[in-house]
Amino acid sequence: MRRTLCGKGKGNTYRDENNVITMEIVNDANAIHEAAHAQQIVRGEITGTGKTTMRHNNLYSEEIEAYKRQFAFDRRNVQNHAPSYWKTPKLISDITENWVIGINSNQDGHSGDFIYAKLVMGINYDPKIIMRVLDDAKKNKQK
Ligand SMILES: [Zn+2]
Repeated sequence: MRRTLCGKGKGNTYRDENNVITMEIVNDANAIHEAAHAQQIVRGEITGTGKTTMRHNNLYSEEIEAYKRQFAFDRRNVQNHAPSYWKTPKLISDITENWVIGINSNQDGHSGDFIYAKLVMGINYDPKIIMRVLDDAKKNKQK
């Protein structure tokens, strides 16, 4: 069971106990992001009921879709509020799985919890593993 956390856990979208899809938003860019998750609930990619108990078929691809829409609407909002250990996205094509994995709770982009990776990895979560995987991916990209 995993929460939908969107950029430092500010937004949230879920199906409530009355079967109503509910979006908690903090600004317009976040609303664009959360609307993507609402559509994913309608499509059956996110299932379940309850604010903290929604289940995800593929959290990374769901977040890639949501962040691409958010970026298209307001790139600075993503650049300034979704720090990633991977890189700061300059183009919509920079919104990738590694970018989502690298999103973390710290402003400097180099430490803190990797919020989505933590949800996916559960008890096996270890930030050192995430940093090593992303560092290796960066090296391989340069070859
Ligand atoms: Zn999200």
